Amino acid sequence: MVVAPSGAGKSSLVNALLAQDSAISLSISCTTRDPRPGEVHNQHYRFIDKEAFLALRDANQLLEWAEVHGNFYGTPRDHVEDCIQNGRDVLLEIDWQGARQIKRHFPDAIGIFILPPSLEALEARLRNRGQDSSQVITKRLLAAGGEMAHVVECQYVIINQEFSIALSQLAQIVTASRLRYASQVARHAELFSQLGISVSNV
Ligand code: GDP
Ligand code: ADP
Ligand code: 5GP
Repeated sequence: MVVAPSGAGKSSLVNALLAQDSAISLSISCTTRDPRPGEVHNQHYRFIDKEAFLALRDANQLLEWAEVHGNFYGTPRDHVEDCIQNGRDVLLEIDWQGARQIKRHFPDAIGIFILPPSLEALEARLRNRGQDSSQVITKRLLAAGGEMAHVVECQYVIINQEFSIALSQLAQIVTASRLRYASQVARHAELFSQLGISVSNV
């Protein structure tokens, strides 16, 4: 799970990671927010109205959901559960409220928090991105402090100052997560058995 205040660089980092690591599958969230210029339905988000969102939620089709900056966001259950069943890495770009719910369902899920190098940089990035109205930007900046207070709930923290360094740090966390005991046992069950290692649950 990648968590960050708006403008910290979460989507840019995640997109760059996906471009260099085809084994990771991205969860496409549902949202009631309007698409930004250039955002594509079913690629950036599943853009749906509030009624459709509430219907999905009530049908238990969302693994988690939250209200963020006045809109609803949620993670569709099917895709994530398919990935987990098939041993595929799945990445969620969600807010801290969603990350907390996912941790409850999947205690092994890894939280990565992206911080900006300064509040000034965060504001400059939101303005330079040029995709939100100044009213929306102000709302997001005001929310940033409260969101960043939840950094303690993530195991990893990346400070996105130099983009290429932050990207390489993100890739290293993915590598480290694949080398965890439980992942290695699942991936290399035959080798463990050939080596005479009895596998225990931890
Ligand atoms: P951004 O923060 O500038 O990328 O703006 P977005 O409008 O794309 O995202 C708004 C917030 O909603 C961010 O905190 C996202 O992490 C969060 N978000 C996106 N998808 C989901 C989701 O499926 N579930 C939850 N809980 N939060 C989400
Ligand atoms: P988020 O998804 O967290 O809201 P974005 O990925 O959309 O953030 O990034 C916000 C803006 O900041 C974008 O215009 C992006 O190009 C820019 N940006 C991201 N990382 C950096 C960085 N390390 N240095 C400078 N600008 C950056
Ligand atoms: P934006 O509207 O700028 O794309 O996203 C705003 C916030 O919503 C970001 O913090 C983003 O991570 C969060 N967000 C996006 N999708 C989801 C989701 O499916 N669930 C949750 N909980 N938050 C999400």
